[in-house]
Amino acid sequence: MSRRPPQVPFVNLSLQHQPIQTEIEQVIREIIQRGDFILGQALTEFETSFAAASGVKYGVGVACGTDAIALGLQACGIQPGDEVIIPANTFIATVIGVLQAKAVPILVDCDPETALIDLTAAETAITSKTKAIIPVHLYGQMVSPAQVLDLANRRDLIIFEDAAQAHLAEREGYRAGSFGKAAAFSFYPSKNLGCFGDGGMLITNDAELAEKMRTLRNYGAPSKYLHTEIGTNSRLDNLQAAVLNVKLPYLEKWNRDRNEAAQHYNTLLEPLKQKGIVPIANRSSSGHIYHLYVIRVTEKSPLAKPSKRIDRNTLQEKLARDGIQTGIHYPVPCHLQPAYQNLGNRGDFPHTETLCEQILSLPMYPGLSNTQIEQVVRAIGRSLNC
Ligand SMILES: *Cc1c(COP(=O)(O)O)cnc(C)c1O
Repeated sequence: MSRRPPQVPFVNLSLQHQPIQTEIEQVIREIIQRGDFILGQALTEFETSFAAASGVKYGVGVACGTDAIALGLQACGIQPGDEVIIPANTFIATVIGVLQAKAVPILVDCDPETALIDLTAAETAITSKTKAIIPVHLYGQMVSPAQVLDLANRRDLIIFEDAAQAHLAEREGYRAGSFGKAAAFSFYPSKNLGCFGDGGMLITNDAELAEKMRTLRNYGAPSKYLHTEIGTNSRLDNLQAAVLNVKLPYLEKWNRDRNEAAQHYNTLLEPLKQKGIVPIANRSSSGHIYHLYVIRVTEKSPLAKPSKRIDRNTLQEKLARDGIQTGIHYPVPCHLQPAYQNLGNRGDFPHTETLCEQILSLPMYPGLSNTQIEQVVRAIGRSLNC
């Protein structure tokens, strides 16, 4: 049975690309003409401008965000067996990055209101083997730089930021990726800044560290056929960098659009709070770049079953029938995934486990209209009057 196309899609990338398509085609044509495909001019340009936009000195383009985490940790001197603290509530790529660096991911629970890492739980998880902490700036909201810096300074930890969902997000005067030793970004197409395939970047203020990252991504070779590190092949394609060069100047505007759309959702959803619909809390005001706009369907919702099971899935199905596309980020926590059961048992991270059952990501993209937002919220209201 085929469904009607959604009236409100979850994302709309063509809306973003149509106005700049000619410009993008032009830069791609130039690269084809020059035959400048690997470690080329567009990449250098993008590394410089993305790092500058993020408030740091150096950028190193890599093949994807997952590689950025793995190579970044390796460059920071993380050794096999070192423990790295990460939030249980994250995309699986954070776990994979740590494992690829041969380190041991130590999961900790999240704050149920912001869905971000609980730093008190993080402090409790520190052992003599703990070397680093990865704050994940989830959904486009940064973890408090002041609080992470305080913890890391007191307990002598390396801060490595997972900023894959937080390009140019801000909090307490810091941009995402600028307060840690280094940070990882992803340019997967649907991220706030996305390329036309896979792509990623490491940023840092440390010149020596940046050099090591450049070496690691390019066969461990600081110069051709000299291999000083056990590296890999993980470069950001020059074609992708060229696309990103065209898109970067629009990013602040796109992020602002998302933030404004979120404010509209917040206002309209306010009366539904008493019915148990609670948006994930924003503690960074206009610095939140809303990669995702996420609500919780709590026990107070009329959809919650008598058994206290929260029926987010029913809401999602009802919205789909109304032509509204939604997502769940993420439906199963990392430690309950078949491949990663050694990371924890059911019940170990209760806030994360509850969130996974409660959360629903509403349509969010630059260009989402107020009319569409009103349509989404009306449909949620209707679904609750069951
Ligand atoms: C997307 C994402 C990654 C991984 O990026 P890829 O480019 O897909 O490898 C890592 N961490 C988080 C939080 C992400 O959302």
